[in-house]
Amino acid sequence: MTTAASGLRELHQLHVEHTRVLDELEAGPRRVRAHESVASRKLQEVDAEQQSVNNLKKASDERTLQLKTNETKIADLRSKLNTASSNREFDIIKGQIDADTVANSVLEDEILELYDRVEGSQNRVTEIEGERETAQQEQERVASEVAAVEPGLNEERQKLEDAISQSESQLSQDVAEHYQRLVRAHGPGAMAEVVDGSCTACSIRVSPQFQVELSREQIVSCNNCGRLLYLDAGDDSGD
Ligand SMILES: [Zn+2]
Repeated sequence: MTTAASGLRELHQLHVEHTRVLDELEAGPRRVRAHESVASRKLQEVDAEQQSVNNLKKASDERTLQLKTNETKIADLRSKLNTASSNREFDIIKGQIDADTVANSVLEDEILELYDRVEGSQNRVTEIEGERETAQQEQERVASEVAAVEPGLNEERQKLEDAISQSESQLSQDVAEHYQRLVRAHGPGAMAEVVDGSCTACSIRVSPQFQVELSREQIVSCNNCGRLLYLDAGDDSGD
């Protein structure tokens, strides 16, 4: 049993590394997804702004058509003005011409304002389109970066899993069962180093009896947090 406690130390380090590699393997695709969602949000923004350009153009076209209709109507009224049969009819036609002229003046202002807004909105489309392109390039860059490191990480994971299996096979039967149960539940948190007589996971002082057992390379669990304990390398050196 001389390797029991040092075996736990090694297992703890291997599990910590293994968890780090798994985290990295998960973090890569998560980064890619985050970038994908930024790029797709930008695409939605481009579409929304383009829709706004279309709506403004439509509003401008409608007013332009109304303006032309009114102009035709005014021209028509002007010709009627010359053939008015009475002063009263003349005044009525004149009144209609004035009203339509005022309406057209309002329409012209509105059309000019809409042209401005169309231009602003089109500029915004160009701007967001640029941002979307940048976001997509960034997404592609991150995706290829993640894809590039993935095989190495998988290889590292495999090596660590092999090393963990190898190291676990050294554990005695009774310890192995307890260890497996704890590792399944807590991962690397199943084990804790004892430094200066205290469990480094929960900071509770390990009883003198346990300290003696630990120094004899026996495996004990922390009374407080239940983790499998091992002595720090300093205490253990010279074995
Ligand atoms: Zn503890």
